[in-house]
Amino acid sequence: MADDVKDPERMDKLVSLCKRRGFVFPSSEIYGGINGFWDYGPYGSRMKRAVENLWWHEMVETRDNVEGLDSTIICHPRVWKASGHLDQFSDLMTDCRKCKARYRVDQMEDPTTCPACGSHDLTEPREFNLMMKTYVGPVFDEEHTAYLRAETCQPIFVDFHSVRVATRQKLPFGIAQIGKAFRNEINPRNFTFRSREFTQMEMEFFCDGEEGMEWFEYWKQQRINFYRKQLKFTDDFFRIYVHEKLAHYAKAAIDIEVQFPFGWGELEGVHHRGTWDLTRHSEFSGENLEYVDHDNQRKLMPTVIETSVGLDRMMLAILSRAYDEDKAATAKEGMEEDVRIVLHLPPKVAPIQAAVLPLSKKLMENAEKLNSELLHYFRTETDVTGSIGKRYRRQDEIGTPFCLTYDFESGTDNSVTVRNRDTMKQERVNLTQLRDYLEKAIEA
Ligand code: ATP
Repeated sequence: MADDVKDPERMDKLVSLCKRRGFVFPSSEIYGGINGFWDYGPYGSRMKRAVENLWWHEMVETRDNVEGLDSTIICHPRVWKASGHLDQFSDLMTDCRKCKARYRVDQMEDPTTCPACGSHDLTEPREFNLMMKTYVGPVFDEEHTAYLRAETCQPIFVDFHSVRVATRQKLPFGIAQIGKAFRNEINPRNFTFRSREFTQMEMEFFCDGEEGMEWFEYWKQQRINFYRKQLKFTDDFFRIYVHEKLAHYAKAAIDIEVQFPFGWGELEGVHHRGTWDLTRHSEFSGENLEYVDHDNQRKLMPTVIETSVGLDRMMLAILSRAYDEDKAATAKEGMEEDVRIVLHLPPKVAPIQAAVLPLSKKLMENAEKLNSELLHYFRTETDVTGSIGKRYRRQDEIGTPFCLTYDFESGTDNSVTVRNRDTMKQERVNLTQLRDYLEKAIEA
């Protein structure tokens, strides 16, 4: 297993690149920002959409036993009573009386000492609920209180019956949802890793309890395969943490952890949740959510296997892994600076998959024409300012895997030079083959 490597400098560089190149920056920045909230800029939002689509394609579109859902953020408040969030979704907090800082007790190395000022004068730990509260309707009182969802999976349980009836699915089958979740995290930190508003991608798989452990193993493996195959994560970058302490209803739980620049952190959870969720919602709503198995003439409360991942954490994992300072490369392309900053993003999720670079401004029209053809199939842009070398560097920084140079020969030989971001090799590709060439290279 790889060591826990902490590299705060690398984190700072990544945060600064994300801001500089319009991937991610603080929300409401001109007002000083708001802690725990982040905006995705032009490149960030393209990449985020690509990552989200990759997950959706893998988990829903390529499976006939998983259905999609797009539920509301605000649900009936009793949903959160049934799920236990209103009573139990809290962290133990302590305040330092001297410097007024507030901490989550489970995250303190020594819960008797303030990590900021060293004082031992701390308040007794208190429970702090993480649900974000709002009001629905014209009166702001207890009766009209509602909550922003703290996770996307509860509406999946609540809608289980409607989805099953509408799709005529039989057990085993799953329901997946991507959407915003909100948690009033006490101490948002590590860039987007712990935010107060974030996006989750969750899939709840409903099955017969007797097959629960088999499905748990199946989904665990599916998710590992996703990281290996689609995002090219290698064994030194991620690991499996097996939970030993389980919730009373759970049968098994693992986390997929990755090596962030601040150390190992949870990216995704795969959980065997037993029949807990549907049983609770049956009790609280009075609707029987049992499944009637007509083939075997029996009724059963489905067991749930959950895969749950934060899209923002997935983005951060991909970006952290991709960030590189390449010292050897610069001489090769005759550049003066000592390091090439490059994001080795998997081409499938790169915000720009191919950049069309006209060698001279005079060729701009031809480059734009090529770009307008390619953008139907790929995420592309044209880049005309500065020397070719400078443009390569700009594209390296945003992780563009292929730069296509349109030069003075291109009009006659109907070809462009394709420069590969990672190998820096260049090859001449005929325009009639370009689409096929890029498709294969992106899929590889
Ligand atoms: P943690 O222990 O880090 O607080 P958790 O175990 O409470 O996370 P879950 O409730 O299982 O997390 O949520 C599922 C996934 O949602 C997590 O694996 C993570 O990817 C994402 N997630 C949870 N909380 C946050 C947050 N505050 N900011 C960004 N992503 C989050």
